[in-house]
Amino acid sequence: MTRVLILGGTAEARALAAALAGMPGVRPISSLAGRVADPALPAGEVRIGGFGGAAGLAGWLAAEQIAAVVDATHPFAATISWSAAEAAATTGIPILALRRPGWTQGPGDDWRRQPSAAAAAGALESLAVGGSAVGGSAMGGSAMGGPAVSGPAVSGSAVGGSAERVFLTTGRTELAPFAGLDRHWFLIRSIEAPLPPLPIRRHLVLARGPFSVAQEIALMREHRIQVLVTKDSGGPLTEAKLVAARELRLPVLLIQRPPLPDVAAVPTVDAARDWVLALAAEQRG
Ligand code: NAP
Repeated sequence: MTRVLILGGTAEARALAAALAGMPGVRPISSLAGRVADPALPAGEVRIGGFGGAAGLAGWLAAEQIAAVVDATHPFAATISWSAAEAAATTGIPILALRRPGWTQGPGDDWRRQPSAAAAAGALESLAVGGSAVGGSAMGGSAMGGPAVSGPAVSGSAVGGSAERVFLTTGRTELAPFAGLDRHWFLIRSIEAPLPPLPIRRHLVLARGPFSVAQEIALMREHRIQVLVTKDSGGPLTEAKLVAARELRLPVLLIQRPPLPDVAAVPTVDAARDWVLALAAEQRG
């Protein structure tokens, strides 16, 4: 029996676990960080919580007699990816990264790539928009049906020609670089309550995607969003906001991926499944 660790927390990791769950000779074990209280659980065996860095993971792989690792974590989860690469190297266990490609800019998109969240926060200060904010009603209430927390009242106009009203979807743990921007107003969306420090002028929407393009357009219109700040996560599940920004002719500050370890990588669940099955067949001899 080939035991395979799937480092997860993504839709691709869940799809891979489901694809391998019924396969003879293969036993997948999915690992989640334990960040959210109510995670979407993969099929089959699941463990939750950190390993204690690369050394902890290497010890765990040996103790559990793991024969292969698939790093199917989110492209912005760089710490666990580097740990996995190091643990695989020290134990000699084969590793494959399942990495979805980043998004590609198309006609009508106004994307400005940013090397980091801090750079995006700096760019917001100087970003000028050609027109006024997109149409829609004034602030208020909870969007997308989730609970909401409102910050102080905001004015609807741009400040000194800059893009004042920002839709921020960088994730609840990566808001600190924006906390000091008190000229801007932020619509912050995350699955669970974000961690401080947070921008003072804000409206919080707690909701779990995927969202349709129509939902994203309605949300951006409702809050008269002028600029979208998001990460280059890639994949179809969270792409609708970029399509909405294109249709509303809004600029996007797209935060680039952090450096990831140079391990063998595939872009699709099918390719990762085939890699595991080939390895299992090889180990069976
Ligand atoms: P990270 O910064 O790379 O990891 C921080 C620490 O969390 C790691 O050092 C590790 O602890 C633990 N960890 C992370 N992923 C783990 C996993 N799959 N199983 C066991 N432990 C894990 O990760 P992150 O950005 O906080 O993301 C955490 C999880 O959320 C990841 O699994 C990722 O796939 C998922 N996720 C992240 C994002 C994002 O934007 N970052 C978006 C969607 C989903 P130890 O060092 O103690 O082993």
